[in-house]
Amino acid sequence: MESDVTRAATTFAVLDHSPIGHLVLRRDFTVLFWNKCLEAWTGIPRERIVGGAVADHFPHLSAPKYASRIQSMFDGGPPTIFSSQLHRHIIPAPLPGGKFRSQYTVVTGVPAPEKEGVHALFSIQDVTSLSEAIENHNTALKRAMAEMEERKRVEAQLVKNAQELKRLNDILKERAIRDGHTGLYNHRYFYQILRRDFLLALRHQSDLACLLLDLDHFKNINDLYGHPFGDTVLKGVAGILQEQVRQTDLVSRYGGEEFALLLPGTDLAGALLVAESLRARIAAEMFQSGPRRVQVTASTGVATLRVHTPALPQELIAFADKALYRAKETGRNRVVVYSGEMDYITP
Ligand code: GH3
Ligand code: MG
Ligand code: MG
Repeated sequence: MESDVTRAATTFAVLDHSPIGHLVLRRDFTVLFWNKCLEAWTGIPRERIVGGAVADHFPHLSAPKYASRIQSMFDGGPPTIFSSQLHRHIIPAPLPGGKFRSQYTVVTGVPAPEKEGVHALFSIQDVTSLSEAIENHNTALKRAMAEMEERKRVEAQLVKNAQELKRLNDILKERAIRDGHTGLYNHRYFYQILRRDFLLALRHQSDLACLLLDLDHFKNINDLYGHPFGDTVLKGVAGILQEQVRQTDLVSRYGGEEFALLLPGTDLAGALLVAESLRARIAAEMFQSGPRRVQVTASTGVATLRVHTPALPQELIAFADKALYRAKETGRNRVVVYSGEMDYITP
């Protein structure tokens, strides 16, 4: 025994200069050599450990997990073991702060001069800073990925918010230009489009027709069947107007039971056709009020840019209004085209 330890001290003396922890085990798990590096790491001086069983200091090494692998090396098994993993506790080497060194351990069989077989030379490298670097790197990577996920989530939320904002804006814009009851464009929007279409028609030397349509004796409808039914009729008439005109035409609720239509690119003959077909279509409609079927008629005044040459947009609607007045005057349920002589009447 004594001679094994002494011989090992000579054989492995050079390893005292190594910054790697080295220990040599005999096949009976007796410690033959314990280098200075391990003394420094563990605080166990060489005299206290060599010549004794390694399990006296490190009982866990006699557990099958380690012992069987070390044993297999003595039995002519693999020449190196433990190399693929980091072990913190093969030879626990504490660090200030309660942590232990991360160890990369390779156990190599070295010829045992005394006998057949091998001793096990443990070479334990301190890779604490390397594994900390890896850990830090992994932590940073995880954090970066979490941040990326969070950013993606926030971006998706922003896109959603922007879409929702646009949707609400569109609704608000629509509400601002439409009549809430019939869904037709309102008076204000009609004037906006009148001004635009008037200028466009002048520039392109095209025509622009304006129809002003007012329901006849509508007060009677309310009086006879009630205001809610009057509302229903207004909605029905709005629907008829909307479905009878072209997509490029504008139908608006000009007032209570008054509707203004703008037909771009439509001359007087075309406007008259539209006005007359609307008149007939409204007159033919049966509006239902309980068991009763109710009919309404409308009077319409027509004016166009080409024939009546208004100087200003609002003059076009004023001409149509005068013609409407004449339609009322001459019996209702009819279409009347503006003519200059109407300027002498005041509706
Ligand atoms: P005229 O043939 O001369 O146009 O007769 P009129 O009764 O239609 O004309 P008047 O201007 O005297 O009355 C318009 C009526 O339209 C009175 C008003 O109560 C009704 N009216 C206006 N807006 C609405 C509405 O939104 N709903 C209902 N139900 N009635 C309305
Ligand atoms: Mg009326
Ligand atoms: Mg009216």
